[in-house]
Amino acid sequence: MTNLKSQISPVLLGKTLPELQEVAQSVGLQKFAGKQLAQWLYVQRVRSFDEMTNISLKGREALKAQYIIGRHAPVREAVSADGTRKYLFEVPNHPSSFSPSERGAGGVYIESVYIPEDDRATLCVSTQAGCKMGCRFCMTGTLGFHGHLPASEILNQIFEIDALALSPLTNLVYMGEGEPMDNLDEVLRSLEIMTAPYACAWSPKRITVSTVGVPAMKRFIEESECHLAVSMHNPFDVEREQIMPAQKAMSITDVVTLLKRYDWSHQRRVSFEYICWGGQNDTPRHARELLRLLKGLPCRINLIRFHEGVEQVATTALENRRFPASDERQMEWMRDYLTDHGLTTTIRRSRGEDILAACGMLVNSLTR
Ligand code: SF4
Repeated sequence: MTNLKSQISPVLLGKTLPELQEVAQSVGLQKFAGKQLAQWLYVQRVRSFDEMTNISLKGREALKAQYIIGRHAPVREAVSADGTRKYLFEVPNHPSSFSPSERGAGGVYIESVYIPEDDRATLCVSTQAGCKMGCRFCMTGTLGFHGHLPASEILNQIFEIDALALSPLTNLVYMGEGEPMDNLDEVLRSLEIMTAPYACAWSPKRITVSTVGVPAMKRFIEESECHLAVSMHNPFDVEREQIMPAQKAMSITDVVTLLKRYDWSHQRRVSFEYICWGGQNDTPRHARELLRLLKGLPCRINLIRFHEGVEQVATTALENRRFPASDERQMEWMRDYLTDHGLTTTIRRSRGEDILAACGMLVNSLTR
């Protein structure tokens, strides 16, 4: 169980079992009703107190007077030609939505992406509205930061889209808007509820959390069993700093040094996301440095094709720096070179580009 801070909130979604037991007792119910509440919220996934039929009418009325469940449907949906679906949620401006210092003046919008594949259905969730990290190539970074999402809003994305989806979710990736390690309490809370036997009981091996590499990732590694994906994009510290300001807080060298202290040789996986830009990070020099840096760390690399939509924005809006997508053959060369030298490397298909749903493209465009 993670070391979570108590959440003082009228929203039930996102509360752990001990907190739900406290809620039950606070409205005059027995402590065991906390477990019933967890079942209704996380297994049955009800949207109203009236559906909680094994809780007395008086108990339900008392709950209604003090709490809300916290579920709300997406306000819009966009469907890509490749089947990817992007959902827009309006995060209500209730007091628990954001920490007091970071609460916005009104409700804000966030996006989530549903990615169906042959034998799986993956949901990419947001953990913050916007992002502070300012990666130069990322459209989400241009949004600025509008607040941390509470666990209830992370879970709401999962539950709502799972209910709408043509095939049920099999995997979750925390790779939408935001840096998950920058909102770690709420991310860990949502992961506990997704994996705890009293709640959703998912295997942590079905969940991957991403990071640009910040010191808080140490706590994530130690308190969670979910997979980790590090956005690397360049193995050289000096070059990476030019495109990822977070490198100043923790260099990729230090990130890899930290990762090497933990055991990734069994079920738990660490991977590196690597968007390829022609001539900038896809050269033999970069490939050799990747091998040197990652030597001794059981991991995999996902090479990601950069898409034209982002390139246009990156070129015009972001300090006129160009981010030309790598040539397909160069990516294949890099994959084969790394694989031949013992580093498991794949090229990841880009999905949902036509609806701005691919990596780094979440800009709440549905609101525009
Ligand atoms: S790539 Fe991720 S961490 Fe970087 S600005 Fe975009 S959303 Fe934030």
